[in-house]
Amino acid sequence: MFLQLFCFYLSCLLTLRLRQPKSMARFCFVYLYMKSTLKRIMFTIAGFLLLSSITACAQKQPKAATVPTTITKKDMSNWNKLTKEEEAVIVHKGTEYPGTGELLNNKEKGTYTCKRCNAPLYRSETKFESYCGWPSFDDEIEGAVKRIQDADGSRTEIVCAACGGHLGHVFLGEGFTLKNTRHCVNSVSMNFVPDTKG
Ligand SMILES: [Zn+2]
Repeated sequence: MFLQLFCFYLSCLLTLRLRQPKSMARFCFVYLYMKSTLKRIMFTIAGFLLLSSITACAQKQPKAATVPTTITKKDMSNWNKLTKEEEAVIVHKGTEYPGTGELLNNKEKGTYTCKRCNAPLYRSETKFESYCGWPSFDDEIEGAVKRIQDADGSRTEIVCAACGGHLGHVFLGEGFTLKNTRHCVNSVSMNFVPDTKG
């Protein structure tokens, strides 16, 4: 409707300009020509707008789909496969025999990491000899270890803050070091990554 009125107006103007107001045939010709041209232009614009909106949607869709998948269970899929012995301690909260751990007498400089998720747990500078039969540390890497009070309140369990894997127990007030803290950690719960020399 709007298109027809607009064409009619333009045709009138054009016919008057040509100083042939009485030429009805010319008026009709100009009117039809204007109408078809304008229609073509409008269709082109509408088509272009439709196409650009479809492309915009197509570009947005994969973005929206990737956001949740990158967050869910990302860490679990990266966990290392555990042996039965490791699983007994890390998953089922068991304890390795005292004096048997591979890392018990390790004196090298480096970082002790979680056997299951590779999160850094302790630095070698905090390891000390407690003669209790398990690797002992008087401090953890900040935020790496979570403490959980045993149900009977007698001991405090320590787990990897990143994956929840069982590490051992923490004891306070024994006077071994100035920090007065002993993280008693199962060797099997950890890996050791030596510092690179250079
Ligand atoms: Zn872990």
